Amino acid sequence: MELKLYNSLTREIEEFVPQDPDLVTMYVCGPTVYDYVTVGNYRTYVLGDILYRTLLYKKFNVKYIMNLTDVGHLSGDNLGDADVGEDRIEKAAEREGKSATDIASFYIRDFKDGIRKLNLLKPTKFTRATEYISEQINLIKVLESKSFTYETSDGVYFDTGKFPDYGKLSGLDDKKIKEGARVEVNPEKKNPTDFALWKFSPRDSKRWQEWNSPWGKGFPGWHLECSAMCMSELGETVDLHVGGEDLKMIHHQNEIAQSEAATGKKFVNYWVHGAFLLVDEGRMSKSLGNAYTLYDIEERGYSPMDLRYFYLGAHYRSPLNFTWDALGAAKSAMERLRNILSGYKQEGGQLSPDHVFRFEEALLEDLNMPKALAAVWDLIKSDVSEGDKIVTLLYFDEVLGLDLESYIGYEIPQEIMDLAKTREQYRRNGIWDKADVIRKEIEERGFVVEDEIDGFKVKKKF
Ligand code: AMP
Ligand code: ZN
Repeated sequence: MELKLYNSLTREIEEFVPQDPDLVTMYVCGPTVYDYVTVGNYRTYVLGDILYRTLLYKKFNVKYIMNLTDVGHLSGDNLGDADVGEDRIEKAAEREGKSATDIASFYIRDFKDGIRKLNLLKPTKFTRATEYISEQINLIKVLESKSFTYETSDGVYFDTGKFPDYGKLSGLDDKKIKEGARVEVNPEKKNPTDFALWKFSPRDSKRWQEWNSPWGKGFPGWHLECSAMCMSELGETVDLHVGGEDLKMIHHQNEIAQSEAATGKKFVNYWVHGAFLLVDEGRMSKSLGNAYTLYDIEERGYSPMDLRYFYLGAHYRSPLNFTWDALGAAKSAMERLRNILSGYKQEGGQLSPDHVFRFEEALLEDLNMPKALAAVWDLIKSDVSEGDKIVTLLYFDEVLGLDLESYIGYEIPQEIMDLAKTREQYRRNGIWDKADVIRKEIEERGFVVEDEIDGFKVKKKF
């Protein structure tokens, strides 16, 4: 069975065919690191993770890049944002009395913790926008040499009037896009949809982050970073580009315009957009106090894994409504799953072909995770042997990422536990070579020992 995906560009479900059968290239628009990442954002990153895991499950090699926006962009660039024209990172730096770099580093560290808690696989590489300034400047130079740019008093702009396909991704005609574009701010723009490639530093700014460029001191526009990082890491045409649906109309449209204008090649073959997470049927926003973080989830007694299960309960192209009750239902389902798995002990088993077929049918048909979860429960309720259930569930979990392995009720023999305890003693005393010998012995006997912050955990090796 082949993987099929809904491609926002063609508005059709298509079979996924990478340019290079040996290496899939994938880019996910990552967070602006000025605050804690919300459960809304994480819905989109879990989509990226499920797609990545599905590609790995299909035995593709994948180069997966996620950017971290550590240059403050004017949030007004992003249609629909209320706080027009403020630089989020600079604002956070002022709020917390730190430098922009410290703000970015702090929230990047926190985001990486979140990635671990939600059991998201790490991208091949995280790219920080501030580490790709010269690539961004070079991209503007190319666009300038091809006459796609013009200068105003506050920056260098992309002339969307010169890019005939502008609007193709959103599917909106030119008139609609113009209506959607904010009544501008900058009367020097030639078209309402034109966007900044480079912004000059305002003279009275306390801005911490600015760079020299052929056009003057300033900072890159937000859209530019994704094009520059995506193309320099993955090539001029990438297979997959993922983000939340809010990015489709402006951000991704602008990425396409500037990349394709520069290279003359198609920028992305498959655009994958995730629907939004709503809270109590409404918009999630900081001002409403409902932009929950993982800390809010944990404080109320839920685990990030409950949240992961909750996300999987809706198709990625359907809006998902977050309520504490709905998260509670996901928690109960996870508990049920854990209880059942803890009763499974039988060793030796095989994949159940019927259940694998049902799971894959759901997964590969545009990542239908609710149906894939139904296949998990069908397997659990079936009369397949316990050993086969274990093997099949762990196979599914390569995609689900629910860490099912740790709940299976194998008993760890006392002598293995004793070995692990001895190893822990060596480790605490810094006698690494002896600790390592014991770790190897444990592995040879079919178990693995994992270090944790306050101890260790022994698991069966699969
Ligand atoms: P931002 O940090 O605002 O640039 O957003 C990072 C990612 O999260 C983007 O892909 C957004 O589309 C996505 N995102 C933002 N809000 C939500 C939401 N409520 N539900 C799902 N995805 C979201
Ligand atoms: Zn982006």
